[in-house]
Amino acid sequence: MSAGRSLLDKVWDAHTVRELPAGQTQLFVGLHLIHEVTSPQAFAMLRELELPVRFPDRTFATVDHIIPTTSQRRPLSDPVAEEMLVALERSCAESGIRFFDAASGRQGIVHVIGPELGLSLPGMTIACGDSHTSTHGAFGAVAFGIGTSQLRDVLATQCLALARPKVRRIDVTGKLAPGVYAKDVILAIIRSLGVKGGVGFAYEYAGPVLEAMSIEERLTVCNMSIEGGARCGYVNPDETTFEYLAGREFAPAGEAFERARVHWRRVASDPDAHFDDRVEIDGSRLAPAVTWGIHPGQNVAIDECLPVRGAASAEDEASLAEAFAFMDLEPGKPIAGVPIDVAFIGSCTNGRISDLREAARVARTGHVHPRVRTLVVPGSQAVDRQARAEGLDEVFRAAGFEWREAGCSMCLAMNPDKLVGREVCASSSNRNFKGRQGSPTGRTLLMSPAMVVAAALEGKVSDVRERL
Ligand code: SF4
Repeated sequence: MSAGRSLLDKVWDAHTVRELPAGQTQLFVGLHLIHEVTSPQAFAMLRELELPVRFPDRTFATVDHIIPTTSQRRPLSDPVAEEMLVALERSCAESGIRFFDAASGRQGIVHVIGPELGLSLPGMTIACGDSHTSTHGAFGAVAFGIGTSQLRDVLATQCLALARPKVRRIDVTGKLAPGVYAKDVILAIIRSLGVKGGVGFAYEYAGPVLEAMSIEERLTVCNMSIEGGARCGYVNPDETTFEYLAGREFAPAGEAFERARVHWRRVASDPDAHFDDRVEIDGSRLAPAVTWGIHPGQNVAIDECLPVRGAASAEDEASLAEAFAFMDLEPGKPIAGVPIDVAFIGSCTNGRISDLREAARVARTGHVHPRVRTLVVPGSQAVDRQARAEGLDEVFRAAGFEWREAGCSMCLAMNPDKLVGREVCASSSNRNFKGRQGSPTGRTLLMSPAMVVAAALEGKVSDVRERL
């Protein structure tokens, strides 16, 4: 019997206020990130209860989902979006919450700005009213997406009532081949374990592939934990983590940083930690992945064919039938060569500077196919500035791509960036559910940003490795 503890257990125990009679834990939340879409109702509930925000200095706001990417000038062209923005401004001003609006120079997708500002730290508990809060686990934080009533609870008490998840350790061994990225790793994990495989679990990602990844790549992996059903996902903090955090605006500085580093090392899982389950995936065998269906688990490698019918369980067969009908694809045919209409590069999964650098490398090899419309949307204003400083915006423009301003954009299409009708979109985002990108009949193929560019240049799903 191993005596060591996992990071999840250490962080959980350190943040436990008390065990609740129903078996849940009252857990203190170190950092609360909010945005304009899920917070208004929670603030309204607080007003009704005449409760103040308990820890405004642990709460940070941004605007990301509804903000247009053509111009962020106020008032926003959509009056409903403007109203939501005004509501958030008012709530933040009344409660003393720091708001990174478009004029701040720090605005961006909530899961992009938390890391880049040094707000998300190892050993923290983090909550946000967005499913992809698991992203922040890249630092060795325990980070949960929460619903509106939980958001109210965190605003009022800085606590959440949660059941402790089990921990599944996922070791990705070997070394990734050129053209295979963090997105391909997480898509392979979800394909292997299933979209419900992680229910009741936290995923601890480890092994040589994760150790070799940059923080930005780890953010991509942790981001999609929720797509595999896991409550959260994390990577143990290491030198890569500390190096990334050093000098960030809200990270500890000077001696405080050195003290924090000692603490951060200790939160990593012990070498003899107990895990409820262990899985190993050979990273050296992975190829670029593309989703073909209506959830992220329905993905194949670029050199594979789509599944055939009749080989799965009754439940899986029903899901396959639904996916093939919606996507209008044929079982057993290659994924390579499927025509696309739209290419979207961005989102909290793949809208960071390293994503744009790699995508630009591929964009230099050609010109956008005449049938394809494109959007390159930096994940934050800081990413936008850095990309412009490196001339990446010009690389994309020269290749025929449209460069936009920071926001969630076509990941969820709550702003004007939407698919039209049955359009097929090669997308670097995280969800390919029906209607996710703004048209109820629009179709989404998830892939890495580099693969999105390859598809945009060819007008069809293509193997980026041929361009590297
Ligand atoms: S980019 Fe997509 S998944 Fe990420 S916060 Fe925005 S809408 Fe949510």
